Amino acid sequence: MARLIPKDAFTWELPQTGTMRVPAVFYGDKAAAKALEADVLRQLANVASLPGVVGPVVALPDAHPGFGFPIGCVAAFDPEAGGVISAGGVGFDIACGVRTLLTDLSVEDIAPARDRIADALFARVPCGVGQGGALRLSDKDMDRMLRHGAAWAVGQGYGEAADLAHCEEGGTMAGADPGQVSATAKERQRDELGSLGSGNHYLEVQWVEDILDRASADAYGLRPGQVVVSIHCGSRGLGHQVATDHMAAMRRAAPGHDIVLPDPDLACAPVASAEGQAYLGAMRAAVNCALAGRQVITHLVREVFAGLFPGCRLPLLFDVSHNTCKAERHGAGGRPRTLYVHRKGATRAYGTGHPDLPDFCRDVGQPVIIGGSMGTASYVLAGGTEAAALSFASACHGAGRAMGRKQAAKSFPSREVLAELDHIGVALRAKSLRGVGEEAPGAYKDIDSAAAAAQALGLAVITARLRPLACIKG
Ligand code: 5GP
Ligand code: MN
Ligand code: MN
Repeated sequence: MARLIPKDAFTWELPQTGTMRVPAVFYGDKAAAKALEADVLRQLANVASLPGVVGPVVALPDAHPGFGFPIGCVAAFDPEAGGVISAGGVGFDIACGVRTLLTDLSVEDIAPARDRIADALFARVPCGVGQGGALRLSDKDMDRMLRHGAAWAVGQGYGEAADLAHCEEGGTMAGADPGQVSATAKERQRDELGSLGSGNHYLEVQWVEDILDRASADAYGLRPGQVVVSIHCGSRGLGHQVATDHMAAMRRAAPGHDIVLPDPDLACAPVASAEGQAYLGAMRAAVNCALAGRQVITHLVREVFAGLFPGCRLPLLFDVSHNTCKAERHGAGGRPRTLYVHRKGATRAYGTGHPDLPDFCRDVGQPVIIGGSMGTASYVLAGGTEAAALSFASACHGAGRAMGRKQAAKSFPSREVLAELDHIGVALRAKSLRGVGEEAPGAYKDIDSAAAAAQALGLAVITARLRPLACIKG
């Protein structure tokens, strides 16, 4: 069994052995390295064996086993060296991500209204398994939404034009091809847009417990005691179907491309191949679906707050996606070139001065928004100076699961979790009682040490620590 070799306090190498073409690296503290599941190491070695991979394959502090690729993984591929794109490297919930809205309210203003806010959000924002969304799309609107993402939603009256500069990609992922999204995928989405989904997806009212970096906090508009609202959801049934459809096509095509899959879940195709291009077009459309969905929910949240706190404004801090593959210029490990960077359960973390960043954050780095759990802290960080060299400009996306859903449901009785959350001042509203146990704070790894490790490595700078006040779950 492969073993991690310590390099420094936060860097652990998985040396190149067997079929691996490059080494892998785990970034995290000693406790996290010790707790890292053997399955993660096996999956990292498999990813490092794929054609055209550019080393190292990266596992972030929140890494845990996933489908094919671990979650909390960054893997870059060079198309000029036969590099591949892998549907499993993006994951089933394409462009799952988080956006955070600012408010001009303070925690003292709203703490007494905690339950009323939770009830109003729970009533207004659709959530839960198979729950329909806020609107139903015609075929024409479906294609427009898949091409234009959050910009389409703003055009339909969901939100403000100013929101778009506060989204990665300006709210529209270029290069989307709705023609590569199957009719089944579109049907699954027809009335799901603007719904939260279930499981780990959440809509959370939080407050800023501490500001740890003044410069980025000022640039982002964060201040101590401020109330913010975070929305975590993805591309719902459409993204899942895109992943399923294209994974099957890639698996069928692999022998024709002389690709030997170390694990069928790593189905992939050369970037330049027909299957690779088809998936890219469909995946980008699913990114737009997720961006549009978070934009519609933003509008619903604003309506709720306007009803409860007349005149209250909720500008968008930023929207980050943490399940993507993007073509980006990277110079680490050789000459600058365009690489296809898979981030699965990983957040892009462009640092100060990156030309693709919007004005508001160019001097401090992009906002990196990470969830902890419904009972612990969550964080806003700023892309750090070392991320480009260490992690293809990426940082962690959360705490990461410490155990599977089944084990969590057994270990944490839902009613006890609800009582505990109430005791620490969090109003939870959930469609599924079983889901509450599965999502118990104890089912997740330690968010504070994940954020601290990201900072110690220079992947990101901690801007603010948030605490939950009310959480809506599917
Ligand atoms: P994922 O995208 O992998 O499903 O989840 C991202 C991260 O969100 C998890 O690793 C976990 O740390 C965090 N998370 C899960 N549920 C909640 C929640 O209810 N509230 C907050 N703030 N974070 C959560
Ligand atoms: Mn998701
Ligand atoms: Mn997610």
